[in-house]
Amino acid sequence: ATSPSKRYNITLLPGDGIGPEVVSVAKNVLTLAGSQQGIEFEFREMPMGGAALDLVGVPLPDETLSVAKQSDAILLGAIGGYKWDNNEKQLKPETGLLQLRAGLGVFANLRPATVLPQLVDSSTLKKEVAEGVDLMVVRELTGGIYFGQPRGFGKNEKGEEIGFNTEVYATYEIDRIARVAFETARKRRGKLCSVDKANVLEASMLWRKRVTMMASHYPDIELTHMYVDNAAMQLIRDPKQFDTIVTNNIFGDILSDEASMLTGSIGMLPSASLGESGPGLFEPIHGSAPDIAGQDKANPLATVLSVAMLLRYGLQEENAARTIENAVLETLNQGFRTGDIFSTGKKLVGCKEIGEAVMKSVDSQK
Ligand code: ATP
Ligand code: MG
Repeated sequence: ATSPSKRYNITLLPGDGIGPEVVSVAKNVLTLAGSQQGIEFEFREMPMGGAALDLVGVPLPDETLSVAKQSDAILLGAIGGYKWDNNEKQLKPETGLLQLRAGLGVFANLRPATVLPQLVDSSTLKKEVAEGVDLMVVRELTGGIYFGQPRGFGKNEKGEEIGFNTEVYATYEIDRIARVAFETARKRRGKLCSVDKANVLEASMLWRKRVTMMASHYPDIELTHMYVDNAAMQLIRDPKQFDTIVTNNIFGDILSDEASMLTGSIGMLPSASLGESGPGLFEPIHGSAPDIAGQDKANPLATVLSVAMLLRYGLQEENAARTIENAVLETLNQGFRTGDIFSTGKKLVGCKEIGEAVMKSVDSQK
């Protein structure tokens, strides 16, 4: 065996429900794919979410955050479950996730929506429209109307009750998300579509101006602009036209959920949250699925694909990322399916068994 040339520290936050099962599979896949490229990983597993609430009474213990911040990348399983939904102390497992994102300073949320040829029938779209869809939504995560001041309740001049929020973006917030988006497009097919509402909103006018200015640093990227109402239509009408989409917090919230429904397979979708420097956070978009937890039924492929994103966007290890993505495709080609993506004629297997199939096809790519 070759001696490892690179070492990375990875924080594992398995969390709740199916989190521990899917993280365990993804950890093994990461270790194997890394070793083929001369990469060694050191893992530290820390409590988070409901598991941490039960253990120490808070959803994000200080030690978990400090270990995470000092590592090279973080892999999260899933957080929450009915067990903690009505807890009296008002502390929710999900609060831990918001604290973690804030603590890490991650402002860019990357969510791919890829219709894999093997799963084209899971899509909500007609086959001709769904086939070949492969896009990425880059969402600004820490600014915009969800955080802007002033906000609150009040009264208007007629004395009627009002609720109000403010959409604010500063140039530095637009520039840093634009940079992530252009870099992401460069790792993909070189096309970036910026989505805004610049015909109505000043914050969007500034957004469009700054994204356009940033384009001069990326002459290799083809930049287009689209209004959000049109983008919502185009995603259903002809999603293949998109490569990378960049947009603000609220539009990205909506469009990334819309895009994920194009694929129809929640158990297959990864995500990444990135900051300026410091470790990125990588997690499947699905929740803790308490209905199937502990039964070896969960689909671990969303978490396995999150590990591929960890390698590509967190560690710049493109080869190992590719190896894992190819192994997932090969596993589907061999007919392995968990219950959520099962169709007749395929092999119904559990979380562990599909994980082992992925390991075998990683191994066969040596
Ligand atoms: P959360 O609020 O944590 O996002 P949710 O209520 O939105 O959770 P999920 O946990 O994301 O729901 O999933 C909804 C259902 O989809 C689950 O109950 C489960 O049946 C199924 N599901 C989700 N993820 C997976 C997976 N990885 N493998 C198999 N089935 C899954
Ligand atoms: Mg959910």
